[in-house]
Amino acid sequence: MGVGDLINRFIEKALFTDFVKGLTVTLKYNVSRSITMQYPDKEKWIPYRRWRGLHTLNRDEKGRELCVACELCSKSCPTGCITVIPMEDDTGRGISDRVARVWKIDLVRCLFCGLCEDACPTRALRLGREYELSCTDLSCSVRQREELLQPQSIPETLEGGVVAAAKFVRTPESIRVAADLGKTKKRRL
Ligand code: SF4
Ligand code: SF4
Repeated sequence: MGVGDLINRFIEKALFTDFVKGLTVTLKYNVSRSITMQYPDKEKWIPYRRWRGLHTLNRDEKGRELCVACELCSKSCPTGCITVIPMEDDTGRGISDRVARVWKIDLVRCLFCGLCEDACPTRALRLGREYELSCTDLSCSVRQREELLQPQSIPETLEGGVVAAAKFVRTPESIRVAADLGKTKKRRL
């Protein structure tokens, strides 16, 4: 270490340079906006469209089920957590005469890898944006076709990546906290 470096270090110590630098960082965070989210009672995160959450089974514009019970999703799943049992149906329920009598998924074993979605030839199967999937017993981890065919709470067209205000919604079984999609704001997370 040369004489110049020694003089520089002496000046830095004399002027408390490191202390001032640290204090500047602290003051900067004191006056910046908080990014803490008041989840889940006041705010809910709306994920981006690329999010891989709870599976959805979809319909065409005429309301017919797109799933043709080909079982490709089940065969491509690395954990074997999808069960598909096909049946014949000529009532127009689906886009073909082959529909799913049973389509269920065990979320405890699901990796949310999206391979099933990629394998689906009719785009019936999509991974949606529902992420609140915890439950208190194993039976509620199995989701059935009837539930997955219900309209999604977050429309596919909504871009996401925003924070929505939370609102209480009363259902026959309980009261739950849902996102109010009419009141959203951008926030850097
Ligand atoms: S996301 Fe992956 S692990 Fe989950 S059901 Fe689909 S293929 Fe199986
Ligand atoms: S969801 Fe798609 S891949 Fe799975 S059985 Fe139905 S049509 Fe086939």
